[in-house]
Amino acid sequence: MKHKTLKGFQDILPPEISGWQHIEGVSRNLFRNYGYQEIRLPVLESTDIFTRSIGETSDIVEKEMYTFKDKGDRSVTLRPEGTASFVRAYVEHHLFNNPAPQKFYYMGPMFRYERPQAYRYRQFYQIGAEAMGIEDPKLDAEIISMLARILSGIGLQGLNFEITSIGCKNCRPAYKDALKNFLGGKLNSFCSDCQRRFDLNPLRILDCKVPDCIASRQGAPPVIDYLCAECKGHFDSLKNYLEMLNVPHTINPNLVRGLDYYTKTAFEVSSESLGSQKAVAAGGRYDGLVDEFGGPPTPGIGFAIGMERIVPLIKDSLKGSEYPDLFICPIGQKDSEEALILAEQLRTKGLWVEVNYDGASLKSQMRKANRLGAKNVVIIGEDELRKGEVVVKDMIKGTETKSPLDIRELVKILKNSSQTH
Ligand code: ATP
Ligand code: MG
Repeated sequence: MKHKTLKGFQDILPPEISGWQHIEGVSRNLFRNYGYQEIRLPVLESTDIFTRSIGETSDIVEKEMYTFKDKGDRSVTLRPEGTASFVRAYVEHHLFNNPAPQKFYYMGPMFRYERPQAYRYRQFYQIGAEAMGIEDPKLDAEIISMLARILSGIGLQGLNFEITSIGCKNCRPAYKDALKNFLGGKLNSFCSDCQRRFDLNPLRILDCKVPDCIASRQGAPPVIDYLCAECKGHFDSLKNYLEMLNVPHTINPNLVRGLDYYTKTAFEVSSESLGSQKAVAAGGRYDGLVDEFGGPPTPGIGFAIGMERIVPLIKDSLKGSEYPDLFICPIGQKDSEEALILAEQLRTKGLWVEVNYDGASLKSQMRKANRLGAKNVVIIGEDELRKGEVVVKDMIKGTETKSPLDIRELVKILKNSSQTH
């Protein structure tokens, strides 16, 4: 074959697309219950939007961004994640003037130049949510609870919710010192990236995926032991509220996030069924980011769900959800014109109707109806047409009835058919 998708990119085709639509539908409904409104952001932004917020020493900025010069010699980047673009829009449009919390969601493609493997793509889709303007940990509990309800509403079970606090700019210096003390003595057992990170941003060493680095950092002090009074109070209240709301969770003091802008609450949801790419959603608080983008100091919290990692987890529960209500088999030329009109009329009644166009034998038309999984078949033949009748076959029950060629009558029969929605 001559043309193929790029490595790490994929087409999403039917029937798998119905899984995607299911996930998006459930999410939209729940977002509405929680007052989150949709926001659509560009996929291409000025590069500095990401370098400054995600962090110069993060894996994303160091290795994974699709950055290039446009024809006007500007450095632009295909967004690797949604929060930075969102905060850019939040500040640009003065959304902070609306009553807090301002709550938004988005769905769309993200781009990271990573090594493609199972559940890891170069173009992947996220559903993200962001809530702004409230510092209270009740909002953290609410958004985590919403995430749990979205994932269970989609039909996912047995997920592992991990939470932690990674402190704020007040507690971070003392923690950095403690970490550097721990790492300093054995720096040569770390990869060259980590050795560089030691001075630039030692926290990033905790996120390195190189096996030697993972082994060497065993026993490093956890941030959670170094929280300032405010961060500790925030985290204690969050745990309390999550109990109150019955959101199952575990505390993982070793949880780190790959982006620099997080403060206080961080969380990750994972599934053991996905092997090593097991994170299905992740998020956290980012109380300094709006400030960083030149807006008034405004707290924020958000998460992103990875679509490609949840679609395979729901595949089984979706079987059989997408089939035509009706397949019309015309026998002759005159019948096929009648079929064209009939199909159009039945579609206005909310039915999914397919028509056969190729003038094949009834036997081969029935075979096609079967392959499509049509729930009913209507046969229009010359004799029937003369009598103003059609034959309706219920393909699930295997029964056959005659019906007048009358839309009201047909709709009644088709809507009574066991499988038609
Ligand atoms: P990972 O540890 O798997 O690299 P991450 O920490 O880089 O994930 P985030 O930036 O937190 O991921 O993005 C949120 C979610 O987006 C992840 O939990 C995951 O489900 C999904 N995701 C991230 N990168 C990819 C990718 N390359 N392909 C598919 N999904 C991805
Ligand atoms: Mg990653």
